[in-house]
Amino acid sequence: MTSTLTQPVTAASEPAGSAAGGANGGAAAAATGLSATVSGSLAAALRRSAQIERRIEENPRSFRILTGDRPTGDLHLGHYFGTLRNRVRLQDAGAGLYVLVADYQVLTDRDAAEALAEHVLGLVTDYLAVGIDPARATIFAHSAVPELNQLLLPFLSLISTSELGRNPTVKDEIAHSRQASVSGLMFTYPVHQAADILFCKGNLVPVGQDQLPHLEVTRLVARRFNERYPGTAGPVFPEPDALLSDAPLLLGTDGGKMSKSRGNAIALRATADETARLIRSAKTDGQRRISYNPVTRPEVSSLVLLAALCLDRDPESVAEQIGDGGAAALKRTVTEAVNDRLAPVRARRAELAADPGYARQVLNEGCARARAVAAATLEEVRDAMGTRY
Ligand code: ATP
Ligand code: MG
Repeated sequence: MTSTLTQPVTAASEPAGSAAGGANGGAAAAATGLSATVSGSLAAALRRSAQIERRIEENPRSFRILTGDRPTGDLHLGHYFGTLRNRVRLQDAGAGLYVLVADYQVLTDRDAAEALAEHVLGLVTDYLAVGIDPARATIFAHSAVPELNQLLLPFLSLISTSELGRNPTVKDEIAHSRQASVSGLMFTYPVHQAADILFCKGNLVPVGQDQLPHLEVTRLVARRFNERYPGTAGPVFPEPDALLSDAPLLLGTDGGKMSKSRGNAIALRATADETARLIRSAKTDGQRRISYNPVTRPEVSSLVLLAALCLDRDPESVAEQIGDGGAAALKRTVTEAVNDRLAPVRARRAELAADPGYARQVLNEGCARARAVAAATLEEVRDAMGTRY
């Protein structure tokens, strides 16, 4: 398996949510409670990603990438295979890359952002360890870019409350929320994400499957803004696309979406022993023979997929090789594959962690660059909206 999509051809000819609907997507959507809207749009998003891969090959410099993560904990394997690899690949191919530490977004599902500074610097350290290069990429936190946040107000006026209320990812996150009641930020953060993406005119967003509904919100915001406020120099915003990877929804040790905040993740920085313990605890099923079928065997298939991704192999051949070895043999294979794959990332991360001042400097420089870009976009928005007196 390579870092480009391997499933799109099949995905194009299969109904949404089927086993062939791309990696483990359909099964994982069912397993995590993400609604049919998400799995229904998955096949289309995979087809679109395949088309975009061809355009990336032809002209990578025509893309401006914006993507990011919440500073709620350590980045994990879902991030690595779901989005980080694509970020580094696009950066190395010459696309402009903006990486967002989405600190305000921490407050969507909890009252207080715990250990925020530690998580923010930890995230920056993870980025650098996987190969994001601050000489080419802009790493920033959105709380440090007021001009970006100012876009939220006009953008909110472009989306209806019913559109906000039917977002399946928001519904899933409410089900896992730590708050007794749902905050306004939970419903409106997808519009804030539109500001995150559009402030730098991002046109491609490498993400996991949970982000597809949010990308639709961003596209709507861009389209409606351009229609309502046609700039004198043409449309102000692009309509960005999602770029899915081979692993649009990697499952965690409990069989639900691997997530920083759900205690089911294998962190990139985990030790080899912690990794072995976590994988040993992963949920499987009662069948001894190992096979790859994400619809009927989501947990086993996600482990097989994880080994396949780490080994650059097809999941079917990995399952075939383990055969009657059962869950114990599968887990041994996955553990070895993950630890081998992550060894260089972990070594680099340990070096970087010895100098936290460097991560802080990278972030501060990135925030300054992002502010300059956001200020220029806000000027264009002012012109288009006529808010210049
Ligand atoms: P939290 O539990 O705090 O929400 P998270 O693990 O869901 O954390 P995010 O910061 O919300 O991580 O997501 C960052 C990016 O990583 C998004 O593009 C998201 O789609 C992607 N991502 C997160 N989890 C997975 C996963 N299990 N599989 C594939 N991609 C994922
Ligand atoms: Mg999340």
